[in-house]
Parts: sequence; C-alpha cells; structure tokens
Amino acid sequence: MDILNSTLNTITSALESKELSSKELVQFYLDRIDKYDGEIQAYNHVNENAIKQAELIDSKRTKGEKLPKFAGVPIALKDLLITGGMPTTCSSKILEGFTPPFTGTAVKHVEDAGFITLGKLSMDEFAMGSSNENAAFKKTRNPWDTEKVPGGSSGGSAAAVAAGLAPVTLGSDTGGSIRQPASLCGVIGMKPTYGRVSRFGLVAFASSLDQIGPMGKSASDLASLLSIIVRHDVQDSTSAKVEQVDYTKALTGDVKGLKLGVPKEYFQTGLAPDVKKAVDEAIKQYEKLGCELVDISLPHTDYALATYYIIATAEASSNLGRYDGVRYGRRAEADNLRDMYYKSRTEGFGDEVKRRIMLGTYVLSAGYYDAYYIKAQKVRTLIKQDFVEAFKKVDAIICPASPTTAFKAGEKTSDPIQMYLSDIYTLSLNLFGGCGLSVPCGFDSDGMPIGVQLLGNYFEEGSILNLAYAFERETNLPKIPQNLKG
Ligand code: GLN
Repeated sequence: MDILNSTLNTITSALESKELSSKELVQFYLDRIDKYDGEIQAYNHVNENAIKQAELIDSKRTKGEKLPKFAGVPIALKDLLITGGMPTTCSSKILEGFTPPFTGTAVKHVEDAGFITLGKLSMDEFAMGSSNENAAFKKTRNPWDTEKVPGGSSGGSAAAVAAGLAPVTLGSDTGGSIRQPASLCGVIGMKPTYGRVSRFGLVAFASSLDQIGPMGKSASDLASLLSIIVRHDVQDSTSAKVEQVDYTKALTGDVKGLKLGVPKEYFQTGLAPDVKKAVDEAIKQYEKLGCELVDISLPHTDYALATYYIIATAEASSNLGRYDGVRYGRRAEADNLRDMYYKSRTEGFGDEVKRRIMLGTYVLSAGYYDAYYIKAQKVRTLIKQDFVEAFKKVDAIICPASPTTAFKAGEKTSDPIQMYLSDIYTLSLNLFGGCGLSVPCGFDSDGMPIGVQLLGNYFEEGSILNLAYAFERETNLPKIPQNLKG
C-alpha cells in the first residue's frame, strides 16, 4: 500500500484488516528517518522502543484483543511535550539529558488512543523563533529545499510531515509556531482555541498564549488527531470546560453560504507577490465553493507584533526562571549557589532565549511595568475586540499565513526584527485566543509551498477544518517533495 499518501483512516483500516502490521508501518518510518533525517535534521531523539511497542500491538491484534482506534499508528512529538521516560529538551542545552518522570495530558491521550511515538522533534529553543535556527542540537531544514529553513518554532514537526518521516505530529503555537512552519513546509497545521487542549505537560513559554495543536497532510488527519487531544483537564486551570467533539463529523465539504472575512490589513506592504497571488486564488476558490466574501478590518493589527513581544517575553522571563541548575537539566560547576545559577543559565540558554528573558524582565520591572506591560495588556484587549467585532459579521477569516515562503538558512539570523516579522499574520490570533490553521494553497516560482490561513472564533475548530477540507478536495496539492518519495 502507498503508506506515504494514506490518511490515518486508511492506515487504521489496513491495520485492522491485517493488510499491514504495525511493525511494518513503524519500520517503514524508521527506515525513512535513517535515510533522510541526516539531511532534514527533524528528530532530536528517536524512540528505540518503537518497534517493540509495535510488535506488542500486533500480537494483541492477532489474539483478537480489543484495541484503541489508532493502535499501532506512528506519531512524532515536538520536543517540548513532556514524555515520561523519553528525553524532553526543548532543543535547549539547559535541558540536555533531561528525561521527565511523567507524561503530559495531550501526549497521554495520544498514547491511550494507541499511537506509537516515533520520537521527539527539533524546534527553536523553548519555542522562540521562526526558522528552527535557534535550536541547540538540530537545525531542521525544509524538505522542499534543504538550503532553506522549515519555519519555526515547530519546524521539526512540519518538516517531519513534509519529508514523510511521520504521518502526523504535534506542535505548539504561541504566536504562529504551528501555522507558519506548516505554511513554509506545505503541510496543514492548526492552533486550537486557547484552553481547548490541556497545557499540562507542555513546557511553558508564554502561558496566556501557548497551545498544543496537530500537524499533518490532510484536514481529515487533523480532525482525527484533534478529536483525541481536546478534553477538559483539571490539571490545567485554563482548560475549557466544554464537551469533547468528534471533528471528523464536521468534514462535510459543504461550505455554501459561509461568510469569509478578508481583512484588508493582511494584504498590504511586506506580502510577497507570489504569496499574495496564491492566497487571492484561494479566496476565489472559496467563492466558487459558494462562500460569501466580506471585506473586513482588524484595525489594531499594526500593534500586534509589539504587543506580542511585550506579553510573550514578560511571561517567558517568569516561566524560564525555573531553569536554575537545581532541579533539572544542566548544572554548571561553581563555588557557590549564586555563581551556580549564573553559570548554569549563561551556559544553558542560547542567545535568543537570553534576549527574550532580558526584554521580559525589563518590561516587568518597576518603573516600566505600567509603560510597557500594562499598556500591552490594554492593547491586547483592543486587538481581541477587533476579532470579536469581525466574528459578528463573518464565520471565518481568510488571509496569508506567512508574508513570504521559506527563506535561506542564515538569511535572517542577524536581524531579530526581520525574523519576528515572519509571524506578522499569525500572532494576533494568539492574542485573541481563537483557532486558526494553515492549509497548503500553492507554490512560489521556486517551487516552495505557500499556505493560506483560516481563522475561527472561539471553539470553531470544526468550521475551519471543514473549510480546509472543502479546499483540499478542489486543489489536491502534493504534500511530499518528489525527491523524498523513494
Ligand atoms: N515566532 C514567534 C516567536 O518567536 C512565535 C513562536 C511560537 O509560536 N512559539 O515568539
């Protein structure tokens, strides 16, 4: 069977009918990791027990035991999802060699559904970055052109799907870290509504913005995976108390009469012509599918980047205080406690993480707190209000996911502001708290993938997945580059 191009549903049917064994399936992916990951550099860690776990499931299946729906299907996880018994580094030297004693909620749900974890995927250190170049161990490359970056911070999660090194993955999105790399690697990725997926066991970057989400090759796979991980969780005080949903039921393909908002602020300077063209065509496609297009405005968009970089860094400076060399991770040799803290953090954190900690500490310090942090919170409310108003008029918003396609490695590393601008179309949504996804909509003149972004109101994951599903059926774009198909 054509494993690479199969959906999770096809794979599970093949496993159930014993046309395929879980061992064969897991071996297929391990072989591909062997063959291609030297170049792609997506995996920080490969699970050495994956084959054994697959054999166990196969033997249970042979005995006719009742198995969970996705028993024996491989998945790979961004390396900031806490996995008991498997290293979790956040691509940071400060957590090098750290193996957590427990497993986070979302990962637990995935395991309970029968998935086998292939390994942990590279990312920008502590999810800070847009190119995966801030990773301490593996600087993941874009499967469509390995001179180029995969985006970030979930660059490993996007590249692993695009290179066929895992059928689906989990990533996390604080300001665009699922949607931007999905767009740059030509896969589909979703940030669910804030509170939809438990953050228990997601290493914290900016707690009021962070959210775990699925990445894959189709809306159908995303719907399957999302349905497993959305549950209320008492261990996360911000977890939403809403019913579990089967998102696969939302995929009817019927989008007739839906109102799609086109925000004028997202189509101005800075948007690459090829990206604009592809997104414009996607918009036309939706019109053909029967959607009604509505011009809208999100007037505070210009302030989103500054607001995000105050709030996110403030929260990060506090969250990252826990890495002190005492409880986990790297501990530097020193004569006294103060030096030990100092040296452990100096040696353990990379430059971008240090920059964020300093920025965050500054905006929270006495004298600057009101001028920056409080001001940013007020502007956040205005940005939220823009979305609240927009969703009174439209069912979803359509816009680019990233201003450009994938750029060359090294191109933006010396200019943090240029790098930060990669998330100009994604981070407002995190400030609002709604859901959003990037779905492939074409290629630029160099053959690099382009994504179109669909933004939804709180808990409207089903509607935007269905919009993506309807679109995919019309476009049917390749998800894996030709040279990696062998
Ligand atoms: N690129 C953004 C940042 O560096 C977003 C990161 C993310 O969503 N985790 O902060």
